[in-house]
Amino acid sequence: MVRFILFFALFLALCYAIKGFLKGIRSRKVLKTGSKRAGEQPPPITDELVQDPVCGVYCPKRDALPLNRQGKTYYFCSDKCRQEFKEKINTL
Ligand SMILES: [Zn+2]
Repeated sequence: MVRFILFFALFLALCYAIKGFLKGIRSRKVLKTGSKRAGEQPPPITDELVQDPVCGVYCPKRDALPLNRQGKTYYFCSDKCRQEFKEKINTL
C-alpha cells in the first residue's frame, strides 16, 4: 500500500513537470513571434460560426454555402443541405 502511494505521488510530480514543460514551450513560442505584448491578447475572431438549418451542424462562415431567401441569408454545410432546404421551401 505504501508503495502504491509513493507511485501515485511520483505520478503527480511527473504530471506537474510535463505541465510546466508544455507551458515553457508555449511561452517560448510567443516570444519567437517577436510581438512582446500582442501575445497576451486573445486572437481576433475571424471565423464566425453559422448553423445549417437543415442538419443543425455549425460551420465557419467562410466554408459555408450561403443562400439568400426573402432578405435573410442562410448558410449550409453542403450543397446537399442547400438543395434540401430549397425543396422544403418550394413545397411550403
Ligand atoms: Zn448540413
